[in-house]
Amino acid sequence: MRKIGVLTSGGDAPGMNAAVMSIARSAALYGMPLVGIKRGYNGLLRKSTSIYDDMEDLHLDTVLDIADRPGTYLRTARCMEFHDPAWREVAANTLRAMEIDGLVVIGGDGSFHGAEYLCQLGIPCIGIPGTIDNDLPYTEMTLGYDTAVNVCVEAVRSIRATSRSHDRPAVVEVMGRHCGDIALTTAVSTGAEIVLVPEVPWKVEDVAARLNRLIAKGNTRATIVVAEGCWESMEPFDMYTYLNTHGKRCYEGEPISAVRFASIMKRMCGNVEARATVIGYTQRGAEPTARDSAFAFEAGNLAVRLLRDGISNQVIGMKEGKVFYMSIDEALRSERSFNRELYNLVNSL
Ligand code: ADP
Repeated sequence: MRKIGVLTSGGDAPGMNAAVMSIARSAALYGMPLVGIKRGYNGLLRKSTSIYDDMEDLHLDTVLDIADRPGTYLRTARCMEFHDPAWREVAANTLRAMEIDGLVVIGGDGSFHGAEYLCQLGIPCIGIPGTIDNDLPYTEMTLGYDTAVNVCVEAVRSIRATSRSHDRPAVVEVMGRHCGDIALTTAVSTGAEIVLVPEVPWKVEDVAARLNRLIAKGNTRATIVVAEGCWESMEPFDMYTYLNTHGKRCYEGEPISAVRFASIMKRMCGNVEARATVIGYTQRGAEPTARDSAFAFEAGNLAVRLLRDGISNQVIGMKEGKVFYMSIDEALRSERSFNRELYNLVNSL
């Protein structure tokens, strides 16, 4: 193998740049030129007027400084064309034309599907899990998850301090559309009293009853950590009628949100001043923690070594604290398991 490529795809995640830096160091070490492909799979579709808009030779001195920066230097984007076999053929031909003999894809499960298709077209690929959600069950950690949790923990600690000062409960929304891991770990790490996740169905009335019990016991500053996807697992609740009949204007068809949920809690819990905070993109745009950076470093090196040694169609992960690899296909088939015991523990104390 001579030249290799790297791209970041899907949502950005802290640690993506650290992985690119590690890949560049390893490629330099093994004497393999490295090309950075821009905006995910889009950079392979030859839609730009100049190839330089899509690709860049990555020299060590260019990338050494980006390792600890948040975001992704290579940019990332969704690429709907990649669902179409004809476009994937274009991508494979671009790689062949550029004499790129192997590709490292940093992204989530969607990106890994794309990589698997490229392997079937004869392009050796290795995946590195880059997503803050931790929604790839084959690995104990994904790049960016630890950073995202740390951002949330810091935010919840600050929110709990002001909640304590004012005797106000707080609703804090963290990321995780299909996966409640960020919410659960944040709740466990901060002593939050209630956590709501997409994996477990829940009822508005039950949460209000629990909050009322906490208030009755003297805890007037409880924190409810909610994953952004928890509204999907909520039992049907007529927010429009409830809020409008309790003095809060709400519009028909309006989706429930952390702010609306805090309004409902206020009205169901004796007018307590429940306030909502949505942590949002600060979770994705933070500097990677040492844990994420260290994983990126090892994963980047392993990816290059695998390609050098002619091993492809694999993804890298962490098992029992050690970096390992397994086939993309097997990794994508592994089943998610949510830590229900821990969830019950948070919600029962
Ligand atoms: P993630 O990689 O974080 O799961 P997405 O699901 O948005 O993020 O996928 C990122 C990109 O990977 C998509 O925009 C598309 O280019 C490619 N991709 C996703 N799913 C597939 C698929 N089933 N087949 C081919 N390519 C895919």
